[in-house]
Amino acid sequence: MIKLEDPTLFRTENFVNGKWVAGSAGHIEVLNPASGELVARTVDGNADDARAAVDAAAVAFKSWSRMPAKERAAYLRRWYELILENADDLGALMTAEQGKPLSEAIGEVKYGAGFIEFYAEECKRVMGDIIPTVANDRRLQVYKQAVGVVGCITPWNFPNAMITRKAAPAMAAGCTVVIKPDAGTPLSALALCELAQRAGIPAGVLNVVVGSDAQAIGEVLTQHEKIGKFTFTGSTAVGKVLMAQCASTVKKISLELGGNAPFIVFDDADIDAAVSHCVATKFRNCGQTCVCTNRIFVHESIAEEFTDKLQQSIAALKVANGLEEGAEIGPMINIQALEKMDTLMADALSKGAKVLIGGARHELGQNFFQPTLLTDINDAMRLANEEIFGPIAAVQTFTTEEEVIAKANATEYGLAAYFFTRDIGRVMRVSEDLEYGIVCSNSGVFSTEVAPFGGWKQSGIGSEGGREGIADFYETKFHSLGGI
Ligand code: NAP
Repeated sequence: MIKLEDPTLFRTENFVNGKWVAGSAGHIEVLNPASGELVARTVDGNADDARAAVDAAAVAFKSWSRMPAKERAAYLRRWYELILENADDLGALMTAEQGKPLSEAIGEVKYGAGFIEFYAEECKRVMGDIIPTVANDRRLQVYKQAVGVVGCITPWNFPNAMITRKAAPAMAAGCTVVIKPDAGTPLSALALCELAQRAGIPAGVLNVVVGSDAQAIGEVLTQHEKIGKFTFTGSTAVGKVLMAQCASTVKKISLELGGNAPFIVFDDADIDAAVSHCVATKFRNCGQTCVCTNRIFVHESIAEEFTDKLQQSIAALKVANGLEEGAEIGPMINIQALEKMDTLMADALSKGAKVLIGGARHELGQNFFQPTLLTDINDAMRLANEEIFGPIAAVQTFTTEEEVIAKANATEYGLAAYFFTRDIGRVMRVSEDLEYGIVCSNSGVFSTEVAPFGGWKQSGIGSEGGREGIADFYETKFHSLGGI
């Protein structure tokens, strides 16, 4: 049982039209990835439940979209404050269902709340246009109007922030939302609804349907005539399927998909800083984020020093149940994730990789894998090409800037890229040459609600966060006013 200061944040029913409702398909068991214990039995919703939520959202849209932005902002602001007041409980719920260390979970809750605060402010500043007229009997105006009901599907790796990053700009813009969170991590999503209800957000504006049949619910959210926009965060493979489904009703669509982040360390880099940021970006959430370092490229002249220091830092990481004091690396999400690590390791070792530390399942059992460092990586290995999505750091070396840029860009993904150098000319060249939506120099830390987050190539369409993150929730209307 999860210990919460406020046990009423523990919700297990769907939230539709401002009410807690049963699911039509029975129940889902939510398991703690660190222990395998049953955390909750939530309802299991289906396509009918999703349709009911869309209908409620469509009704609520009529009044919510017409409410002055300043009033919508006040509701969102109250929701934001309640989330911060309950951050410890929301963190505990997240650690129980997702596994990440409690400090990381609370950090995500605050990061997620930041989107609500930011868009509560931003929606007051979304402007239309008045265009200089082309004839004196006419006036030319451009309006921005909310796109309608928004369908959202989100993943398990950020059970809170991936929801607020969509729902906050959508709701701020005047849209209403129907969200399907990952069936493995529904508690964070439902607790957000409880707090939205306490904030007085009107019925039907925010709806969450938990369900194990993702395909059936996904078909509703991508094809329903009453939905104006669909937004998805998850794998590229599923994103492609959902994008195709959206074609039947020509929906506006945003996709935040997979990554294959390069981390480049040039010969003039501050090696200690590069090592510590490499550990942070590689091992956050046990390596299970879309912006986790995936391919580490180190200049051959500093490779030995870098890998020695990296090995020492990895050896010092505390692997533990996320609720344990000082835990830095929690469990992976489930057994399939562990099996993927086993497969990637076997493939890399058969093709010549060398293990400096780790390389196997952890003695804690359950879903724990050892933080791992591999060298002698080559292009034939799967982990040099695929999203690893786990705690394996894989180092390869390079000789020239041109060569490493070509290697870093040689992927169908284009989400985040990192590089370390103290040469300002190189900072500019490399930041411009990397084909990525997010480029981070001399740091591994960049996430903030005030800047656009989005992928190039097969990492996605559109951006979340910043000014860009709200733009897609509006339609543009040109009004030609005649007869003057
Ligand atoms: P996933 O398998 O694509 O699942 C994501 C969501 O899609 C879950 O809610 C899942 O539901 C649902 N889903 C799966 N198949 C579906 C279908 N056929 N129709 C409709 N919905 C479907 O991805 P994941 O493994 O959970 O998440 C990891 C991936 O997300 C990684 O590739 C990561 O890089 C990416 N990601 C990207 C970002 C970003 O901002 N770019 C952020 C975080 C994660 P159920 O699981 O409940 O079945």
